[in-house]
Amino acid sequence: MAEVNKPINNNPEVAETPPPTTEGENEKAMKLVAEMLTEKIIDIRPQLDYATELGFVYPVAEQILGVKAEKVVSILDSLVDKGLLSRNFFERLLRCPQCRSLNLRPTTHCPKCGSGDIARGRVLEHLVCGYVGLEDEFVAKGRYICPKCKVELRTIGSDYQSLGLLRKCHDCDEVFNIPVIKWRCLKCSSLTAEDKVIEANIYSYNFNEAKRSWLEFELKPKHQLIEFLRERGYEVTENATVKGRSGAEHKIDILATRDNGIVTYNIAIGIEVAGDAIGLGEIFDFDDKAYDSGIHDKILVVVPGLHREAEKFASQQRIKVLEVRDLETVLTSASQPAKEVKREPFKFESKSKLIKYLKQSGYEVKENARLKGRSGAEHEIDVLATKDDGIVIHHIAIGIEVAAEPIGLDRVFDFDDKAYDIGILDKAFIAVPGLAPEAQQFAQRQKIRVFEAKTLEPSS
Ligand SMILES: [Zn+2]
Ligand SMILES: [Zn+2]
Ligand SMILES: [Zn+2]
Repeated sequence: MAEVNKPINNNPEVAETPPPTTEGENEKAMKLVAEMLTEKIIDIRPQLDYATELGFVYPVAEQILGVKAEKVVSILDSLVDKGLLSRNFFERLLRCPQCRSLNLRPTTHCPKCGSGDIARGRVLEHLVCGYVGLEDEFVAKGRYICPKCKVELRTIGSDYQSLGLLRKCHDCDEVFNIPVIKWRCLKCSSLTAEDKVIEANIYSYNFNEAKRSWLEFELKPKHQLIEFLRERGYEVTENATVKGRSGAEHKIDILATRDNGIVTYNIAIGIEVAGDAIGLGEIFDFDDKAYDSGIHDKILVVVPGLHREAEKFASQQRIKVLEVRDLETVLTSASQPAKEVKREPFKFESKSKLIKYLKQSGYEVKENARLKGRSGAEHEIDVLATKDDGIVIHHIAIGIEVAAEPIGLDRVFDFDDKAYDIGILDKAFIAVPGLAPEAQQFAQRQKIRVFEAKTLEPSS
C-alpha cells in the first residue's frame, strides 16, 4: 500500500468556476455536437440572408442553440478550437465598411480621374491629327469623320488605326484598358475602393470524426460518473483549477470533495481519451498534478486503455485506472448510496461515540487494528475505519491519546509515521486534553485532522 511520494500537506484550493452564462452556452453547444454525433445533423451550412445584419444565418444551429447568428458563429468557432468541429470554406462575402451591408454592386471607374462616366467600345486613332476616340465619335452619315480635324478617315493602317476594344472616360478623355473597380453599397449608397471593402469568409461546419470516442465518453459515462459522486455526497467540480504547493495551477478534469466529519476526501479524476492506448507521459502528468495538489485519491478514466508500462506506473502510484467498461460496472453494480443524513460536525466525546458515529456513516470499524507496514514492521492503529463508497475505498487511521498534560510532538509523530508506513493518508488524531503547540503545527503540516477534548467521557 506504500506510495512513492510522501504525502503533502496543503489542501487543494479550488479556483472560481467560469461565469454561468458560459456554462449554459457550453451545454447547448454540447447538445448541438451530440446531434451531429448521432448524425441527426450532418453539417451546419450558412444560408445567405441579406435581410439580417450579418447577411447570413445558420438556421439549424440557431434553433438548437437558441441564440442569434453572431453568437452562433462564436460558439461554432469555439467548438472548432476544441477540435470537435472542422470548418470548411463556404463563400467569401464582401461587406460595406460604412454600414456592414453585404448588398454591394461593383462599378467601373476611370483610373485617371475616378469618374464613373466611362464607355466601352472599339477605339480608333486618327494618325493624321493624333485624335483617339471611340468608334461612335467618328461615325457620321455612314462615314468616319475625325471629330477633331473633321477630315475623313480612309484607309485603316495608313491614315488611322484601330486600338481594339478599350474604355474611354467622358470626363477626362483618358483611354484605358482596365477600369478601376469600386463597390457601391445598395443600402447606404456609399462607394468604396476595392481594397477598402471588408472581405469575410463564411464557413460550413462538420463533426470531427477523430473526436468521436472522446465525445461519446464525455456525453454519457462522464455525466453518470459525476451524478454517481454527487449521490454519494461529493461536491463535484469539472475542470477544476487547483493551486499546487509548487505555486503552479493545475487543471483537474473532475475534482470530487467530501467532508465526512472526521476527514476531508479529495478525489482527482483524470480523463484521458485517445485514438490509441494511453502512454506513460499522460499518466505521469496526471500523477504529478495530483501530487502537487496534495490529492492522494486518484482515478484515471482511460479510453480506450493503457500501455503496459503506464499500467505498471499507475498501480505503483496507487492510481485507480478505469476503462469505460470498468466505469460502467462501477456505475451500475455499486450499491445504492446510503442516504446520508446531514449531521452535526463531529465532536469527540468518547471513543465509543466516535465508533458509533463512524458506523452510522457506513464505515467498517476495527479497534486496535494490527497492520503490517511496507517496512515490515507491524503497527497498531487505535481505530481503523474503512468504507468502500463504490469508487474509492477509504481508510481512515485514527489515533487517540489521553494524558494529564497536552499531547506532545512525539506521540503525533509516531502516529503519522505508522500511518505512512501502512500507507494510510487520511488521518485523524484525538487528543485529550489537547495538543502541545509544536504537535499542533506538525499535525497541520501532515494533514492530520485533530480533535481535542478537555476530558474523556466515561465509557458506557
Ligand atoms: Zn483628326
Ligand atoms: Zn477620367
Ligand atoms: Zn453601406
